[in-house]
Amino acid sequence: MSAGSPFAFVAAGAYGAGAASLEIADEPACHGVLDRADALRDDPAALAGLWADGRVLLLDADGNALVDGEGALFAPTGRELSEGPGGPGAAIFLGRAPDGTGWFALDAGLAALGAAGRLDLRSAAARWPAFEAGVFAQARALQHWRDRHRHCGVCGGAITFTRGGWQGRCGACGLDHYPRTDPAVIVAVTDGRRLLLGRQRNWPARRHSVLAGFVEPGETLEQTVAREVLEEAGVRVRGCRYLGSQPWPFPGQLMLGFIATAEPDEPRTGDELESAQWFDADDIRAAMARDGRDDGHGPLLSTSISISRWLVTQWLAAIDRAGAAAVRGDDAASR
Ligand SMILES: [Zn+2]
Repeated sequence: MSAGSPFAFVAAGAYGAGAASLEIADEPACHGVLDRADALRDDPAALAGLWADGRVLLLDADGNALVDGEGALFAPTGRELSEGPGGPGAAIFLGRAPDGTGWFALDAGLAALGAAGRLDLRSAAARWPAFEAGVFAQARALQHWRDRHRHCGVCGGAITFTRGGWQGRCGACGLDHYPRTDPAVIVAVTDGRRLLLGRQRNWPARRHSVLAGFVEPGETLEQTVAREVLEEAGVRVRGCRYLGSQPWPFPGQLMLGFIATAEPDEPRTGDELESAQWFDADDIRAAMARDGRDDGHGPLLSTSISISRWLVTQWLAAIDRAGAAAVRGDDAASR
């Protein structure tokens, strides 16, 4: 595809030589906590069979999960929820756990059982085991989509949900609607020596993060990276490389993580950021060691559950490996 094509799948030069030379060690996992078992969504008998012993995550209208007295996930079985209005027909089928158990999500208002409390997804992600947090994130994202797609965007007709809750159909014009995820890029920008971090006005003092922004229609991810970094910080990206992603259901994003090499431009901020600046590896190591405790010095990084923090870790590891290779006298061109 020619560089001038308006429909280029990947922007010309996206994989700049500088980005390619930063080797990344951590491969993101490629299996979710549940088998989403797409084929079962069309099989009401199979879903009904899984329901009785299945676990049901209950979400309130604000997207909080019901929890027990210890703040752990309260997920009764379908049988415990009785045959009431919250049967499998009203529930979202999330998938099957490795032990075969079916997992469902249900509007807590339809359940006859009460719980000791409720917890928001951010808190749960920081405190719960990965399995429970992953199931909650999936349920929360789907609930959000369904709450905001009660009517058809074409004709305004009412939508009913089928396929275990994963497909909406307009009762008036028959159009099918599918869950939406909004892509956003998040990027560790380096000039080869330093890392670019920015901060928003409403963040706690000294909190900094790698830059991020939404993908616009008609844009490749690589083009979004270059545009957002230039818009937010006035820094020119030379090339970038995809590293990994993270669902960010606050409420419905997918964060696509990149590392980018850029010109060592002096950052200039516009409307979006309060400040942006380059930090060297020692600054970042100190910030990691600080781990969110504000001692009045240097930047504070995002929490360890975020892809923002993971990207910073990847960048620092790449810088350390490059430094070690230089000390050993490796010939970079031979690798
Ligand atoms: Zn319609």
